[in-house]
Amino acid sequence: MSNNSIDLYIKNGFILTMNPGMEILRPGALAIRGDSIVAVGPEKELQGMEAGAGKILDVQGGIVLPGLINAHTHAAMTLFRGLADDLPLKTWLEEFIFPSEARYVNPDSVYWGTLLACAEMIRSGTTAFADGYFCPDGVVKAVDLSGMRGLLCQGVVDFPAPGVPDPAQNVLEAERFVEKWAGYSSSIHPGIFCHSPYVCSTETIRTVKEICGRRRVSFFMHAAETGEERSLIKYRYGKTPIHYLDNLQVLDAQTVVIHAVHVDSEEIEVLARTGTAVAHCPESNMKLASGIAPVVEMLNKGVLVGLGTDGCASNNDLDLFKEMDTAAKLGKIRYLDPTVMDARTVLRMATLEGARILGLEKEIGSLEVGKKADIIILDLNQPHLVPCYDPYSLLVYSARGADVQSVMIGGRMVMENKKILTFDLDEVMDQVRQISMEIVTKK
Ligand SMILES: [Zn+2]
Repeated sequence: MSNNSIDLYIKNGFILTMNPGMEILRPGALAIRGDSIVAVGPEKELQGMEAGAGKILDVQGGIVLPGLINAHTHAAMTLFRGLADDLPLKTWLEEFIFPSEARYVNPDSVYWGTLLACAEMIRSGTTAFADGYFCPDGVVKAVDLSGMRGLLCQGVVDFPAPGVPDPAQNVLEAERFVEKWAGYSSSIHPGIFCHSPYVCSTETIRTVKEICGRRRVSFFMHAAETGEERSLIKYRYGKTPIHYLDNLQVLDAQTVVIHAVHVDSEEIEVLARTGTAVAHCPESNMKLASGIAPVVEMLNKGVLVGLGTDGCASNNDLDLFKEMDTAAKLGKIRYLDPTVMDARTVLRMATLEGARILGLEKEIGSLEVGKKADIIILDLNQPHLVPCYDPYSLLVYSARGADVQSVMIGGRMVMENKKILTFDLDEVMDQVRQISMEIVTKK
């Protein structure tokens, strides 16, 4: 390989590869050509590549790791950050969120709300995410501009929704969305998000799953989130949410169940047997007092579990560093065992396991030759990050999203020294402030 073929050579890194051997390289180097990693290893082995590289980046001992992956959010809900807090899920959803969405969610507001979310995610080290929302063309437009990677799903509910006033058209619209964006770019992947078993009928769920199977796209659904939902589904259908969905043959390796808080051992066996993945959103579950998901049992039984923030109306931020810290500590509290949900496990959930949830494990989630160059760099030269005995502990328990210095996605720098390069952040914040004024005055 000629040195001239290297576009970027990153050196002097404290590299956490997150590869199967969890290899750490210090000092480590990375060589990037186009959108991919072509070499990663100890600096002394890669030094020969430096001379002919198009650009050299000396990260001065900073931590270099794969971009974090958010397994579940509703990006545009940044519009409703802090609008209705400290309420039970049912009241919050039915009296505040659904009515606000009906009035204020449109392609334009979704575009600006999603861009704000992208800014927040990039600034806190997230490079890819799974989204479920309405007016998703606006989501695609925003994510495309931001440079992020997304598995972007059209939201489906059985009542009039933004962009789909006639619920009889909801499934058709979702299929149209998937058809429109399939193959659009290597960064944007469409999917469908059926909101939940309590707002989608059996027929809707079955039909959406059939479309997802036929078009080979992911199916996302909130399920087993609260005890109330568990009782309601049991009352309506005679089965708990997971058994109900299993009975509908919805559970398989292309399905992601979001939350799975109220599941027993038998239901965890069902998730494991069917290869169904789970998006664990601990801060949302805490804020809505939904409960604590039995993540350790899921992991022990081989269920794939990724980490999500959920939307900003129930979190109220998109910082996966905070989410990792919470996931680790909440897991310990559930089991009253400080050894479970250790820092390495949690960081894997936010990287490699997240990539598997997005179906992109061959492309992202670790720093390995042939994978896309989705890389984040943290500056360790800060009081709360000194000293460093174990980088995984440091990242999960001490670091914050704001410690991320630079972010690269597919070989393209999208944030350098904390400045977003792909769009005008001030304009985005102004636009969302204006939309929020309208929401407040017309509420
Ligand atoms: Zn959600």
